[in-house]
Amino acid sequence: DAGGVPTEKGKAPEAPLPRGEAPGIRFEKVVKRFGHNVVLRELDFSVAPGERVTLIGPSGSGKTTILRLLMTLEKLDDGLIWIGDETLWHMERGGKRVPAGQKHLHEMRKQVGMVFQQFNLFPNMNVLRNLTEGPVRVLGLSKDEAVERARGLLDLVGLADKENAHPTQLSGGQQQRVAIARALAMQPRVLLLDEVTSALDPELVVGVQDLLRDIARQSDLTLLCVTHEMTFAKDISDRVLMFDQGQIVEEGPPDRIFGEPSEQRTRDFLQAVL
Ligand code: ADP
Repeated sequence: DAGGVPTEKGKAPEAPLPRGEAPGIRFEKVVKRFGHNVVLRELDFSVAPGERVTLIGPSGSGKTTILRLLMTLEKLDDGLIWIGDETLWHMERGGKRVPAGQKHLHEMRKQVGMVFQQFNLFPNMNVLRNLTEGPVRVLGLSKDEAVERARGLLDLVGLADKENAHPTQLSGGQQQRVAIARALAMQPRVLLLDEVTSALDPELVVGVQDLLRDIARQSDLTLLCVTHEMTFAKDISDRVLMFDQGQIVEEGPPDRIFGEPSEQRTRDFLQAVL
């Protein structure tokens, strides 16, 4: 066990995967514009607690925007986004929509973790520090607790021997594994995956996908995944939502959407990506 923290006899090491009740997600008439470009037009959909959902659809159909809204990296223009029984950007009071305070947003944001296409690791910090920074600063863990959690997660993603490496010294696949571990270190209840293997060399894709599939199956996270990789989508999700121009064209279990899509737009899209 390279660098693992010795655990006291009889004391179980902290389970590296986040545990606990996962909230559902609901978009209610969500509108998002960039200037004159209306990206989401009164979008409604929900994801059940612990459900794993993949978003597919042509480039520009709004998939990443949906994840970024949940991560509070974008602000919505109208409608409500629910995580569990609380709304994200706005609260409803007496039938009115009022902006949520910073403290509320901060608490809501803690439930959500995201893995990006471009890894987005902190370039000036070594691997261990990438994993401990958030838990110490945002969650208030002691340094020792954060290091123990980080080492458990590095072990889980197969990088126990890389804790002192800097991101630039790692392959893309290794960087993405660190990014996955970093997201999990915050113990999110909702995990968002945005095209997590599209920046990887082809030979590294399957390893990262297998890791995520195992994490998804072993944890009880609510998962939203954007991917063009249909095998991965089948592996990782209970349900697929097909988007076009900010609207859901059709939805269903992966076998049906990929095997017998009922909409022409889905057939066209699948033909283009497969
Ligand atoms: P997808 O993930 O399905 O490819 P996106 O959510 O990335 O789609 O983009 C949806 C639309 O929103 C596109 O037309 C895109 O150009 C636009 N868009 C996304 N982010 C921004 C931004 N920061 N500024 C302006 N337009 C944006």
